[in-house]
Amino acid sequence: MHEARLISISALQHYLFCQRQCALIHLEQVWQENFLTAHGRQLHERVDHGGPETRKGVRFERGVTVNAPQLGLTGKLDLLEYQASINQFMPVEYKRGKPKANNVDKVQLCAQALCIEEMLGVDVNQGALWYWQTRKRLTVDIDEALRLQTKTLISDIQSMFYSAKTPPPIFGKHCKACSLNEICQPELIIKDSSSRYITRLFNMDDE
Ligand code: SF4
Repeated sequence: MHEARLISISALQHYLFCQRQCALIHLEQVWQENFLTAHGRQLHERVDHGGPETRKGVRFERGVTVNAPQLGLTGKLDLLEYQASINQFMPVEYKRGKPKANNVDKVQLCAQALCIEEMLGVDVNQGALWYWQTRKRLTVDIDEALRLQTKTLISDIQSMFYSAKTPPPIFGKHCKACSLNEICQPELIIKDSSSRYITRLFNMDDE
């Protein structure tokens, strides 16, 4: 058993997008902004900026920092809503795009819910995703399947961080949208390793 390192909630999304990207950002501290990340950052800054307020019995806290050592997570919530009449906390995450076919945004939201549960000793059964492109708010159930997927993912990322090994690139369509494309250069590395492989094959033939 190795000591768990606190990982940033954002690492979950990076890992699901590309394991190498996650390691470059969180292990090697490499970061480069592109249009997509700049737009996302501006959106989060705008959301985080507002002060706390209460409307219709719901308290809104913005830019809430969370630390959950048992879970191994740390991060910042865009918005935390609290409905005192039913003692219900609900994390809200703002996204620049639109709802995705996979669970990548839901996993991040679930990680936030798990952090609130550990910190406050409450049950968090729902969260919400707000999409800038569609201007729609989507309520998400924090159910058992999503919890399991999120916890498994946290454990996988902890293992990768513990190994301290950055995975090789897997070149694909997602590389076009990756802010680290110029640093990673996945096409070059793949070409380079193919040529080294061919060289090795020829050397073996010579033996
Ligand atoms: S360029 Fe591709 S392989 Fe490299 S980090 Fe980005 S998504 Fe991953």
